Amino acid sequence: MPMQMKERMMTLYTELQAKNNLKRSEILSDNQVTYSEEYKCYKCRDMTFILIDNEAVPCECRQVRQAEEILKKSGISEEFRNKRFNNFNYTIENQVYEAYKEAYMYTKNFKSLEKERCNSIMFMGQVGAGKSHLSLAIANELMEDGVGVVYMSYREVITRLKQNIMDEVYYHRVMGKYKNARVLLIDDLFKGKVTESDINIMFELLNFRYFNKLPVIVSCEMDVDRILSVDEAIGSRLVEMCKCVEVKWKKLNYRMYGK
Ligand SMILES: [Zn+2]
Repeated sequence: MPMQMKERMMTLYTELQAKNNLKRSEILSDNQVTYSEEYKCYKCRDMTFILIDNEAVPCECRQVRQAEEILKKSGISEEFRNKRFNNFNYTIENQVYEAYKEAYMYTKNFKSLEKERCNSIMFMGQVGAGKSHLSLAIANELMEDGVGVVYMSYREVITRLKQNIMDEVYYHRVMGKYKNARVLLIDDLFKGKVTESDINIMFELLNFRYFNKLPVIVSCEMDVDRILSVDEAIGSRLVEMCKCVEVKWKKLNYRMYGK
């Protein structure tokens, strides 16, 4: 292991140890110590690292803990956890099969594409075509592979952000979560009436992710031309970032935008 990596792990270990001691002393002062519940993992005392010959080594529980953490932070409900590739409803003759293949390939190639300009995917098409299902199938698969995905229901989040636009702390906390997620899933982009402030908020978010080459998975009822007519700056960035896939049940032209 490179020296720098060793040092970083040691620093992390020390930090976690300090935090852990703090937690422990809080519990002790409360006089409510229940030893059986104190730690999830006794081997590392929940620090997810153990010391071997004065070197911090990841504990065997670390991966499980990280997976739990990823799930907790994703905001993906139990119901959405069940949207998988193997329960996506399609027939081979239908256009929707092409979208399914694109989604599957995107997932398989994710890690090699992550740092590229075109590292994202957008599903477009009518209600009920399976856009959200495919987006969530990707998210669930990525999370199992240790990639953090954060779910954002466009309409819900934008409404809450606007209600709290004067609350700077809230606004920056929520925006920060969506800006900095390793992968952001935007469900039903531009659903409903789109106002000037909706556009401003989405531009702030997508522009940040665009410049930092952070991937998005988007589902949207509009096609690319329609998105561009809503806002050209947002639309053009999305086209550059995303493989754009139409999800249609009818036998219509399968068109692919972008690369
Ligand atoms: Zn452990």
